[in-house]
Amino acid sequence: MTMQRLSGWGRTAWTVADVIATTDENQIRSTLSSVGDRGVIARGLGRSYGAAAQNAGGTVLEMTSEHDPLGVDAVLDPISGILDVAASVSLDSILRMCVPRGWFVPVTPGTRFVTVGGAIASDVHGKNHHIDGSFGEHVRSMTVMLSSGEIVELSPGSQPAWFWATVGGMGLTGIVLRASLQMLRIESSKVRVETERLGNFDAVCEAMSGDGEDDSYRYSVCWVDLLATGSSMGRGVLTRGDHATAAEAEGDEPLAYDPRLKVSAPGWVPNGLLNKFSIKAFNEAWYRKAPSQRHIGIESIPAFFHPLDGVNKWNRLYGTQGFIQYQFIVPLDRTDVLRKVIETFSAAGVASFLAVLKRMGPQNLAPMSFPTEGWTLTLDMAAGIKGLAELLASVDAMVLDAGGRHYLAKDSHVSPSAVRRGYPRLDEWMTTQEAMDPRGVWRSDLSRRLGLVDPRRNP
Ligand SMILES: Cc1cc2nc3c(=O)[nH]c(=O)nc-3n(C[C@H](O)[C@H](O)[C@H](O)COP(=O)(O)OP(=O)(O)OC[C@H]3O[C@@H](n4cnc5c(N)ncnc54)[C@H](O)[C@@H]3O)c2cc1C
Repeated sequence: MTMQRLSGWGRTAWTVADVIATTDENQIRSTLSSVGDRGVIARGLGRSYGAAAQNAGGTVLEMTSEHDPLGVDAVLDPISGILDVAASVSLDSILRMCVPRGWFVPVTPGTRFVTVGGAIASDVHGKNHHIDGSFGEHVRSMTVMLSSGEIVELSPGSQPAWFWATVGGMGLTGIVLRASLQMLRIESSKVRVETERLGNFDAVCEAMSGDGEDDSYRYSVCWVDLLATGSSMGRGVLTRGDHATAAEAEGDEPLAYDPRLKVSAPGWVPNGLLNKFSIKAFNEAWYRKAPSQRHIGIESIPAFFHPLDGVNKWNRLYGTQGFIQYQFIVPLDRTDVLRKVIETFSAAGVASFLAVLKRMGPQNLAPMSFPTEGWTLTLDMAAGIKGLAELLASVDAMVLDAGGRHYLAKDSHVSPSAVRRGYPRLDEWMTTQEAMDPRGVWRSDLSRRLGLVDPRRNP
């Protein structure tokens, strides 16, 4: 056990906790039996942006197995594609093991450096949400340690309420120890990608709308230039794709997979390096670089799914003040609100290095899962921008009035009432959470800030 300063990927709101790095069931159980009143939370690879995997003054169980001398704790059934895997294993390790054998993860977020436990707890989504739903929908069963130390087997068929409360439950129902995942068959490690430039917001919405051809692609996402104004407001670069066949991939080894890290961000970066001017220049170059007519190409898995993973520790580029990632969703018919939000950021000159728009498919059964049918916009911005809190509060109101919500895995700013409004099944989830954790052991900085766990219960 060591006292450590922790933050999320956004590097804001650092707090100190006792960190125990273990995946050993007996050690976890003994930690739970002697827990203090600040409780315990699991942490994976710390890729959630805010404080979901922190616990000021309490205990954090670091559940990663990146350097496990015994290798990757996972077994793949080569016929069914069912992967039985420890929750501490990363998607990076799973891909290295499974892609050469012709299987891909059913859902991947924009980074492969997340653990299976973190992917379940946030119910992560990828570029294929409109077709395949989110991560939890591909979990056939999971083994969970409750705060009592008891181990339970949860599946959608046998313990549906507990299963779905854990999917998207932000680590507050128990520790996921193992999961059984249905993987996706692939013929090659390449993706056939169509890229096109879209000149304004209307063109983006039209191209991505469900009535169009978007549903014929498994993967679809649009980068949006938030600094463009006037007739170019909301312009973007749409990329859509599908796994390439062996013939399309060409070469002798269609399943060869080599996701090497390319460079590291420097250890020290001056504050303000990513500012309105540098990002405007980047956006212009990025937009111009995209083909003006639809272009079809073949890309590798890392290039298409995880481009940011090519730069190790890129989150340092925002300097010591860190950055905020803001992700919300609004219903499909509320493109008016989406437009208003983009206009608001554009008018305020808020520079976002990575503004991404995605059309999401239907919601699953998990009460706290973020995706619902609609449009989700994700943007990041330097935490030190003047007036940011007021600006985001005004956008929060637009989102909530439209029946939308915010993504907890990215959040570091919304209020408890915003979560209550955005997640109408919160009370139902809290009742299940209490049944699974009557002593109130699971606590995180996020759960305290947003009132996700009743503070009257104490370990
Ligand atoms: C560059 C980048 C791109 C991203 N893109 C996307 C995206 O496209 N879609 C998307 O949905 N998300 C995205 N994310 C967010 C990320 O996928 C989630 O935050 C994910 O939960 C991180 O997993 P982790 O292992 O790092 O977990 P952590 O960040 O360490 O923890 C996240 C939550 O999981 C819980 N947890 C961790 N392990 C366990 C366990 N074993 N049992 C129970 N609970 C556990 C923690 O308590 C915490 O509540 C992105 C993040 C980054 C940095």
